[in-house]
Amino acid sequence: MMNRTMDPTLEVAVKTAGPAGRPPRPNLRIAVDFDGVLFDHIPYLLRGFRDAHGIDLAAEGLRHWDFFQYRAVRERNLSWNAVKTVLERIDQDPVLHDCDARDPDAADVIASWRAQGHQVSVVTAREPGARATTEAFLARNGIRVDEVVMGARLKTGYDVLVDDAPHNVLMAAADGGLALLMDHPYNRDVPSKRNPLRVRRWREIEPIVAGLALEAAA
Ligand SMILES: [Mg+2]
Repeated sequence: MMNRTMDPTLEVAVKTAGPAGRPPRPNLRIAVDFDGVLFDHIPYLLRGFRDAHGIDLAAEGLRHWDFFQYRAVRERNLSWNAVKTVLERIDQDPVLHDCDARDPDAADVIASWRAQGHQVSVVTAREPGARATTEAFLARNGIRVDEVVMGARLKTGYDVLVDDAPHNVLMAAADGGLALLMDHPYNRDVPSKRNPLRVRRWREIEPIVAGLALEAAA
């Protein structure tokens, strides 16, 4: 059905020409995880488990993604609810979000993607109740995105995913997206040479995405 508010010839022109009549730029859909990628949740995680349950995750090298892989968590017989409570207390505490981004370059890299016409979404498994703290942190750090998706159970369907969770990057890569795995002790067991590809800094991510945009344009 024709959109009555838009001149059809104008619509065609918008779709086929970029600025100054150049061909349209390839728009990538880029998903960026929050915890462990933009926000440094680790000090809070360590303190949360220590204060609530006397558990020192760092003593076991912080080397497991799954909390139930930690000997101390199993020995204390923690329920999933107990683990979830520790996480939600962090996610919803405004004071803990009044801090710098874990990588000061993230805001610039994301701004440059959006200026190039890519669509950037923050996609997090955090519950919707943590939206206010999550968005406050983004605003505080000048990280502007097209949308913030809360409660995400699956992070497939994007051209690029930047994430620290083994299952998320493996599924995104299997789905055909480019998965960039933000390096942490708890994901070193993930094979990561091409896709997923292990990254350590936001400046390192920038040329990788530029390369993908060039490929998409070719
Ligand atoms: Mg994460």
